[in-house]
Amino acid sequence: METLKFEDLNLSPWIMRAVTDMGFEEATPIQSQAIPIIKNGHDMIGQSQTGTGKTASFGIPCLEMIDPEDRKLQALILCPTRELAIQVSEEFRKLLKFKDNIRVLPIYGGQPIDRQILALKKGAQVIIGTPGRVMDHMRRRTLKMETVKQVILDEADEMLDMGFREDIEFILTKTPDERQTIMFSATMSDEVLSLAKKFMNNPEYLKISRKELTVPKIEQVYFDVKEKDKLEALCRLIDVYDPKLSIVFCNTKKRVDDLVEQLLGRGYFADGLHGDLKQAQRDRVMQKFRSGAIELLVATDVAARGIDVDDVDIVFNYDIPQDEEYYVHRIGRTGRAGRSGKAFTFCVGKEIYKLRDIMTYAKTKITQQKLPTISDIEKTKTDIYLEKIKSVIAEGGLNKYAQYVENICDDDTNPIDVAAALLKMHLGNTVSDYSQSVDDLNVVNPHGGSEKLSKDMVRLFINAGKRSKIRAKDIVGAFSGETNVPGDVIGEISLFDDFVYVDVPYEYAKDIIEGMKNKKIKGKRIIVERAKRPKQKKEKSFKKRSK
Ligand code: ADP
Ligand code: MG
Repeated sequence: METLKFEDLNLSPWIMRAVTDMGFEEATPIQSQAIPIIKNGHDMIGQSQTGTGKTASFGIPCLEMIDPEDRKLQALILCPTRELAIQVSEEFRKLLKFKDNIRVLPIYGGQPIDRQILALKKGAQVIIGTPGRVMDHMRRRTLKMETVKQVILDEADEMLDMGFREDIEFILTKTPDERQTIMFSATMSDEVLSLAKKFMNNPEYLKISRKELTVPKIEQVYFDVKEKDKLEALCRLIDVYDPKLSIVFCNTKKRVDDLVEQLLGRGYFADGLHGDLKQAQRDRVMQKFRSGAIELLVATDVAARGIDVDDVDIVFNYDIPQDEEYYVHRIGRTGRAGRSGKAFTFCVGKEIYKLRDIMTYAKTKITQQKLPTISDIEKTKTDIYLEKIKSVIAEGGLNKYAQYVENICDDDTNPIDVAAALLKMHLGNTVSDYSQSVDDLNVVNPHGGSEKLSKDMVRLFINAGKRSKIRAKDIVGAFSGETNVPGDVIGEISLFDDFVYVDVPYEYAKDIIEGMKNKKIKGKRIIVERAKRPKQKKEKSFKKRSK
């Protein structure tokens, strides 16, 4: 048993309404287990980490067990600090939204004691306070413990660490021996256990094992997309945010394989990880990822389980996780070691309901964002390029070039014009020809390269070119001679001195690469492989890493 629905906990209708009103859909594990034990009257020690819903796990049974007809004090809750006492009373007030004859009173230091005395005179069935101030009132006889049936120590370890042991012991000895004693603690120190031994009656011990919980440092965002636009959306986000390492989660092995192919086809350094791979293959992929030789790791949940990489910048949920718990596991891959990270989730149509469940489960907020437009991408690319210009200026050695610029400047042309023209020439190749509607994800291809590849073409790289006397028709001849690829499906061929780019239909790429292994063109042994993305920044770091 992990979690229960609140419906299964036999709660009073007014509590049920309040819980629903608070937006709780399912009880947390500590709530599922603690509520029945406390309602049965047992003493109990509950251990679970922060943020797991401990307040309601004692708040719900505590309030249910109060007899509204009896105006005397029935339950005492001790908290380490005034802030926590306030927080707990606020949660209690919410739980009491549909019940008006139970009075809860917070009692903490810093508030004028006279006002508290007045409030205490009016009577309260539940007191939530800090040990110091509660003791104070007991000494003044403004607070009497004789009628208390239930004492709850919230964050017991904290209170002991803060030196409240004597106060707590004093308070407990003044309450009736038949009371029910409940203790919550995030950790279980010897001190906590010895206090339990002294004041508790055969307590049930409840420990909820640690689960990875959402770290607030992770920026969580979702994007509404169409299924067919996911690839495009992913590429845009990568181009804008330019993460060094990211993990892209898909729900099936097939989805992983397909996405890796598509990303490679678009020139990204990507590789996949899923359960069908042998250990050695997985190790190789992970090694590449760690060293930065690939920037995108595409993985299934199962395959990603044991992976341990610290500086993942972005986790993409390409497919929304099937299981809510997976979401927490997935995004836990970023924002490690106190770094900030991002989690981007693609949400298709009705999946928004699933996303809401995830938010409830993970107790987190995932905010909607619009996908970056072409002008966002243009701005990012321009910024990157301008940064690079700055570093070239800083490197110096520009005299010769400055002379050229000076030579073309005259009354009509100033140096700013020259710089602007150069920028236009450079960026024109990468961004400015996106004339299509900025939000139509289907027609826009925001990825590098001056020549746009049509959707189903893949760019291949051959490691020899004009200098080896290779001509376009030699390539067509070799491809169709050595493989079963018809010559007329081969797309654009760009010849350079020492290499060639050839665009080929996606479905033939693998056959060509395989078929051309150890083959020669014009007497020269060549290698055909997928072209890397012509993005200088990346290429530079790639070279550095592989030294
Ligand atoms: P803890 O005391 O274990 O640190 P809290 O009781 O302060 O945790 O609860 C943390 C947050 O989770 C609060 O905002 C609370 O309202 C919320 N919460 C508690 N129980 C649930 C639940 N069953 N479903 C959704 N949210 C919950
Ligand atoms: Mg708490």
